[in-house]
Amino acid sequence: MTTQSTPNSHQTLPTQGLSHTQAIDALKAIGANDMVPDGKKWAMKYDAGQDVTDVAEAAFVAFMGKNGLDPTLYPSFQQLENDVVGACARHLGGDEHTVGTITSCGTESVLLSVKTARDHVRSQKDNIHTPNMVLPITAHASFQKAAQYFGLEVILVDIDPVTMRADVEDMAAKINDQTVLIVGSAPSYAHGVIDPIEEMGQLALKHQINLHVDACIGGWVLPFQRKFGVEVPPFDFHVDGVSSISVDLHKYAFAPKGVSCLLHKNDLLRQSQYYACASWTGYSIVNATMMGSKSGAPLAAAWAVMHYLGEEGYIEKFKAMWQTTCKLIEAINASEHVEVIGQPNMPLMAIRPTHGDAFELADRLNARGWFTQATFGYGPSPAHLHLTIDPACSPFTDDFIAAVIEEANALTPPEEQVDDQTIHMIKDLLQQDIDLTPVLESFGVQSGALPQDMADLNRIMDALDSQTRETLLKTFFQHLFQPSTLAATR
Ligand SMILES: *Cc1c(COP(=O)(O)O)cnc(C)c1O
Repeated sequence: MTTQSTPNSHQTLPTQGLSHTQAIDALKAIGANDMVPDGKKWAMKYDAGQDVTDVAEAAFVAFMGKNGLDPTLYPSFQQLENDVVGACARHLGGDEHTVGTITSCGTESVLLSVKTARDHVRSQKDNIHTPNMVLPITAHASFQKAAQYFGLEVILVDIDPVTMRADVEDMAAKINDQTVLIVGSAPSYAHGVIDPIEEMGQLALKHQINLHVDACIGGWVLPFQRKFGVEVPPFDFHVDGVSSISVDLHKYAFAPKGVSCLLHKNDLLRQSQYYACASWTGYSIVNATMMGSKSGAPLAAAWAVMHYLGEEGYIEKFKAMWQTTCKLIEAINASEHVEVIGQPNMPLMAIRPTHGDAFELADRLNARGWFTQATFGYGPSPAHLHLTIDPACSPFTDDFIAAVIEEANALTPPEEQVDDQTIHMIKDLLQQDIDLTPVLESFGVQSGALPQDMADLNRIMDALDSQTRETLLKTFFQHLFQPSTLAATR
């Protein structure tokens, strides 16, 4: 590499471009510290094996230059979208009226389901001035994000502290004449349990409001589980009152990131999702999604993986995942010092030590190479370790179980609870808009990198009220994301 090719702090880019190999090698070096998806990572990845990844990659590359902004120029978009939406609709109990849209992620599907409900119910009733949505505390955070983006009020519904399912009576009591949407999860991300969707459907029909079933993580798996004999409570379009369903293809359909599907019961409902603008000087736009220009790559990869695996391929993968899940639940619940929260309906679950600290357990497992997702407590849901099981986990099941039980047995209760003084100090600092760097550094956060052992930091985060935690997280992430060249000259 010549010296001219090395970027310095005054330059935007290297003066002379790098070679193909140099650019790609430099990129790969940057990625060298990223999480490697293997069987020892029990959350945040959906690995169906190298052969599936290879199919996805080939399809991704072949379609990455195609732009979904104008499907009339790329008719393949229309066909791929209709094929994939059709497969999702049939899979989830749709009929000849069911329609849908491919979006870029679960969050976008959720955002659009909320916008659709707001505009649809408004078009049907003339008294909606301050629209609200009524959703369980287990519903994905993206619904609250949607409420903030689109100006809706959020009314949170309690859950049963044992089953972690939504309390439908509480939901019924909280619906009012400004409610446009209620939400159920199939299943919830944290605990993997399906809400009472049938009862929610009755509420939606009674109040003539939308019911969105968030099957982002479960929608592709659950119907297949039924096919090999697992009992799955009703959750899809077979249930009366369901208006829309979201299903992420970049999770358990094993497509690469960037593809989800939002289904509507009929075209009248979907109408409120669309946006068109012809009142400007450029090309007229008509968008079903939030994005304008969008790559065809994720959709093409989803299509290719779905056709590559076929029904039998998915069933084989999901059977292995379910076996792992059952084995894990049984072993953990039989052990003395760790338990599964609720009864998971699919290969997702929350586990926690019964004496000792969940964050400490996560650290101990991490030190042995086992990744789990440490999760804060909220309401009746205690701090826990979240697991998302994929086919790559199966061969490691016995080793993982042994490690969890061993480390849970070795836990000692934390010496001290987080003291009020620390909490007050953090709140004060945040309110005064003072630089948090010294505080973060005192918890082991050094120049943006998180410490190896997160338990102390996590315990403090867990002790904060959720608003303070939100502010702290935003501050921390703003701190992480500072332009490279500016940072070099600072
Ligand atoms: C993952 C998930 C989402 C959000 O999906 P993203 O693709 O991460 O935006 C929404 N709901 C549930 C239940 C999920 O599991």
